[in-house]
Amino acid sequence: MWSPDEIASLCYNHFNKLPKRGKPEAGREWTLLAAVVLLTDSSDQKTVQKQVVSLGTGTKCIGQSAMSMKGDILNDSHAEVIARRGGVRYLTEQLHRAVTGQSSDVFCPGAGKGKWTVKPGVSFLFFTSQTPCGDASIFPTTGSQAQPCEPVKAAQNGESERRGLKRHAESELEETRQGPGMKTSDNHSSCRKSGDADEREVITGNKEHNQLNEVSYYQPDVKKVYPPDLHRTGAKCVPDGPTDPLKPGLLYHSVGVLRVKPGRGERTLSLSCSDKLTRWAVLGFQGALLSHYLQGPIYFSAVVVGKGPYNHQAMQRAMRTRCSHVRGLPSGFSIQAPELLQASLEFTHNHTHTESKHTHTQGRISPCGAAISWCAVSQHPLDVTANGYKQGVTKKALGTLQARSLISKVELFHSFLKLRAATEDAQLPETLRGNELRTYWDYKQAAGVYQQAWTQLRLQAFPLWLRGPRELLRFH
Ligand SMILES: [Zn+2]
Repeated sequence: MWSPDEIASLCYNHFNKLPKRGKPEAGREWTLLAAVVLLTDSSDQKTVQKQVVSLGTGTKCIGQSAMSMKGDILNDSHAEVIARRGGVRYLTEQLHRAVTGQSSDVFCPGAGKGKWTVKPGVSFLFFTSQTPCGDASIFPTTGSQAQPCEPVKAAQNGESERRGLKRHAESELEETRQGPGMKTSDNHSSCRKSGDADEREVITGNKEHNQLNEVSYYQPDVKKVYPPDLHRTGAKCVPDGPTDPLKPGLLYHSVGVLRVKPGRGERTLSLSCSDKLTRWAVLGFQGALLSHYLQGPIYFSAVVVGKGPYNHQAMQRAMRTRCSHVRGLPSGFSIQAPELLQASLEFTHNHTHTESKHTHTQGRISPCGAAISWCAVSQHPLDVTANGYKQGVTKKALGTLQARSLISKVELFHSFLKLRAATEDAQLPETLRGNELRTYWDYKQAAGVYQQAWTQLRLQAFPLWLRGPRELLRFH
């Protein structure tokens, strides 16, 4: 019906056709890409129509201090999160069409009053050009591979340790190894900072490591053998739980734990993409607000990852094993994780590819600061942001309507309120009746069944899931 490569190529082509605004500068800037793809079976079920309904790019995440009380800033601009938010925007418009009697590609009337369900033969899948950051990115390396996601500052300790390793390595390996942590300019700058103290630590670490593992880096006749090592993630363990041992090789990270994204030197409250995808795999990707209108959650039937470092077991651990024991979910919710697949096609704006095209005259390689959101809606499908606000707005305009991204919390909320206003009273879902609902927080809390499922998931699998201050959700 469809292959991972067909999906990857559909998404890359879609990206290529978008205007230049917000795209990385070839050979110097890199980015990540993710997309939500709508699959529609033909009436004879022999073919399937594939359509990108939301696409996102982005690599950044803002720190806690930049978060806004007005819901008008994008806290998390990793491609996966941008793509999902665009997906919610798309679903909101499709529901709006459905409740106003226009044809919808997605929804048909459901069983309960005011409830809608996804049409038979319609499903969604998620594409991401790279292994999601966080738990799914932690797995043993196999020879020379790039990191699945940028190891960022959190890898600094590991970096100095790796410099230590490198000094003992044969110079010919320098060219071919391209081992973890050696791939980004950020890392190179942290290399320069590494002092002697770091190196001593490294060597001690190596001795320990050699006692535990059969491969020694110091034996001159095993030049071509790399010590066992892990791909790393820049996302740090959430507070109050297990921490990373940060030991060399396979003992660097803890696995199966919740992680927060690194920001620019500042702590963020945003969970890693692995964690968020896992949450969507249990609660659906539609979010709390739209669940008012839906008979059940909308799941991704598959997650397809583009070419690059990938490990099926790590994906399974992150997205299935961590919550496979969860019981007592409300009816309609399940813990059936999506099918996990990898494509053999590479995103040409990823880090590895950008590095291969880079020339020294271009300056330092860096992650692209902009995030592109495109979704299949009738008005303003393209939304380009930087630092959580529309790209190009002046400092003075921050906080105004013009500065808001159309996929910010407040804008998605307002689209939802328009949907509510467009719904005839008799068709209004039970949970939206009554006038006491006012703020974003109120409307989310009123989605009782969704909240019940979230509570079960949190209690049984993710008790340490970080929750931002409630005050940040009281806008309307
Ligand atoms: Zn991420």
